[in-house]
Amino acid sequence: MAEVNASPLKHFVTAKKKINGIFEQLGAYIKESSAFLEETYSNEELDPVTTEEQVAEVRGYLSKVAGIGEVLSRRHMKVVFFGRTSNGKSSVINAMLWDKVLPSGIGHTTNCFLRVEGTDGNEAFLLTEGSDERKSVKTVNQLAHALHQDEDLDAGSLVCVMWPKAKCALLRDDLVLVDSPGIDVTTELDSWIDKFCLDADVFVLVANSESTLMQTEKSFFHKVNERLSSPNIFILNNRWDASANEPEYMEEVRRQHMDRCTSFLVDELRVVDRAQASDRIFFISAKEALQARVQKAQGMPEAGRCIASGLQNFFYQPNPLDLNYLFEECISQSAVKTKFEQHTMRAKQISEALRLIMDSVHIAAQEQRIHCLEVKEEREDRLEFIDKQLDLLTLDCKSKIKKITEEVEKQVSNAMAEEIRRLAVLVDDFHMDFHPSQVVLKVYKNELHKHIEEGLGRNMSERCSCAITAALQNTHTEMIEGLKPLLPIGIREQVDKMVPRQCFALSYDLNCDKLCSDFQEDIGFHFSLGWTMLVNRFLGPKNTRRALMGYNDQVPRPLAITPVSTSVPPFPQGSMIQEELMVSMVTGLASLTSRTSMGIIVVGGVIWKAVGWRLIALSVGLYGLLYVYERLTWTTRAKERAFKRQFVEYASEKLQLIVSYTGSNCSHQVQQELAGTFSQLCQQVDVTRQQLEDEIRDLNRKIEQLDEAVISHRMTGEIMHLLFGCSRLSCSGIDSRL
Ligand code: GDP
Repeated sequence: MAEVNASPLKHFVTAKKKINGIFEQLGAYIKESSAFLEETYSNEELDPVTTEEQVAEVRGYLSKVAGIGEVLSRRHMKVVFFGRTSNGKSSVINAMLWDKVLPSGIGHTTNCFLRVEGTDGNEAFLLTEGSDERKSVKTVNQLAHALHQDEDLDAGSLVCVMWPKAKCALLRDDLVLVDSPGIDVTTELDSWIDKFCLDADVFVLVANSESTLMQTEKSFFHKVNERLSSPNIFILNNRWDASANEPEYMEEVRRQHMDRCTSFLVDELRVVDRAQASDRIFFISAKEALQARVQKAQGMPEAGRCIASGLQNFFYQPNPLDLNYLFEECISQSAVKTKFEQHTMRAKQISEALRLIMDSVHIAAQEQRIHCLEVKEEREDRLEFIDKQLDLLTLDCKSKIKKITEEVEKQVSNAMAEEIRRLAVLVDDFHMDFHPSQVVLKVYKNELHKHIEEGLGRNMSERCSCAITAALQNTHTEMIEGLKPLLPIGIREQVDKMVPRQCFALSYDLNCDKLCSDFQEDIGFHFSLGWTMLVNRFLGPKNTRRALMGYNDQVPRPLAITPVSTSVPPFPQGSMIQEELMVSMVTGLASLTSRTSMGIIVVGGVIWKAVGWRLIALSVGLYGLLYVYERLTWTTRAKERAFKRQFVEYASEKLQLIVSYTGSNCSHQVQQELAGTFSQLCQQVDVTRQQLEDEIRDLNRKIEQLDEAVISHRMTGEIMHLLFGCSRLSCSGIDSRL
């Protein structure tokens, strides 16, 4: 087998590897970008930094790039040979393969397309369309025989000739060569194009240099040109050996062929520029090239001479190998262009579009990040302000509440003291049928208690409520005004509505019923000049009782009141001592009276003698009259008056006891009311604080996510740089990599 130093098709293989690598990286990056964009788009916490269209676009790129990558990885360089029958298509392919792989010559021609490609095994075999059966072929004759024998083969069907790569260097480089039946023997050119030409990289028109280009050949390539944009077309003017045999005409013939072929490619097909046309037109002798290569492969000296020429080598080729090398390199380069150029362009377009999308996401993310940072700073400032203000306002409110509660206590105490002084008026205002019987008295007392309770409450309320409510309202308003700026605007209005201060009313809770439950009236008749009343007048009701109950034994002796020892103060001093003395005297007198009526008679006798009986009789008469008068005027009404008087005295005394309690009770109510309001407001502030804290936490999370977006964009730049050697994509970026 022949060996060449370096296959000219390596160019294609290297390019394929590189572009595959690029597409793999690009695919991986697009996948990552797509996932990132989808995640960012579906992230409800972030304001939109990308659109649904962008997400869909990138997702579309993902499948496109994956598709291209897959196509590229499967790609081989497919060169299709067309021409009239016996122009030497099979011979050209054989020459390229350095071996007689395909049958050639009249009689071996088939109506099938023969596709030659490499196989890793050592045995050549055939694969026919629609069958997986491998038909072993060892020699070209066997192949020809097999093709002729196979009756299932339709005209225009495909037969794959799998040739061991080990036998042919070209086939190792992913080269696929397709031999076609002569285009002069078919009418199915359109279906041929559909079936075999759409994925061809290079079209080779094998023309016969012994004749001119035929219309059938031209028509076919016109059709190809209509179906494919700028196909790579080469023209091989084969059988040049025949012209070489006539050297005097050779130059002229070559020029004629060159002109016609150039005109065909440039003017008719418009697939190349005139300047490049010469690179596409070759003059060869496949027969001689094949002979030379086969001999060389067999280790024999080269026989004969191949005369061939391209415009750029416008001289006789001394060595047909050089010509072949040149041709192979040309088709390799062309194939790279056709095969990869459009994909390269597509990759660049996709990358550029992706970069623009990622740029826009980056800008949006950056803007949003800056905005978030600003908002966060503002929220943190506000939180700090609220905390400080709340501390100050708490102190202020405490002192205000203290002040107002002290005032309320004072006001209520004063009002109550005043009302106690006017209690008699309130009791006088009470009208109800009075009767000294116990049952009526009980009802009377209950109603009186109620009257007092209501009256006192009403009067005190009239005295205090206005002032207290005003002060309360004032403090309340001050508290709201103080805390309002700490609340969001929406809640400020709610705060005004939330606490209707006018509803507050003090509850005095005097509990007259219980307070005066021990009251015991004394509405029995007492003669004003009676013994008890006289003593009472002198000694007061308490001592009278003691005196009249005969406590003389307990009354200390006069001597005892003299302080005997300074360390033991057994008795009260001052007026109490005098009262006790008087009591002892009268008690002694009474005792004397009751003990000895004889003594009275004696005294009466003495007075009788002294003033005379008339005066005594007058006095007794007057005394008796007065008694009768008082007894007659002691009516129910008088009893009611006495009852009321006694009640006033009793209730006043009791109410005095609860003055300070009521004051502090009311101040406590006010304090509770204000503290309640303040704590309600503080709750609102707490809600605001909590909202701010939540907002700051959300913003922090948002900023973190946006930071990721920014990092991701930086990665875009780096990946673009890695892929294309520059962050900004340029054609030269990709081209230089290829
Ligand atoms: P195909 O039908 O186009 O595949 O043509 P073949 O390769 O089968 O060749 C047909 C005949 O032309 C064969 O007998 C070849 O030997 C002969 N032939 C092919 N190339 C050349 C050439 O360059 N010079 C000469 N003289 N004969 C050639």
